[in-house]
Amino acid sequence: MRGVERDSLVVRGEPPSPIDSPAGCPFHPRCPFAQEKCRAFDVRLLPAGPQREAACVRLGEI
Ligand code: SF4
Repeated sequence: MRGVERDSLVVRGEPPSPIDSPAGCPFHPRCPFAQEKCRAFDVRLLPAGPQREAACVRLGEI
């Protein structure tokens, strides 16, 4: 699947500006899996397995 390598989500392009970051997930403008909820909700770290955390509102879906 393009954009996913192993168990990591890979986003391409320029990183978001820390000064003018977009609403919701700061990666949604260049994430191939972005949905409307990625723009609407702020992301926070969630448990993603043993000793792992991830910040993605679609965690568990992709
Ligand atoms: S929340 Fe997850 S799926 Fe949505 S844009 Fe961010 S990294 Fe992509």
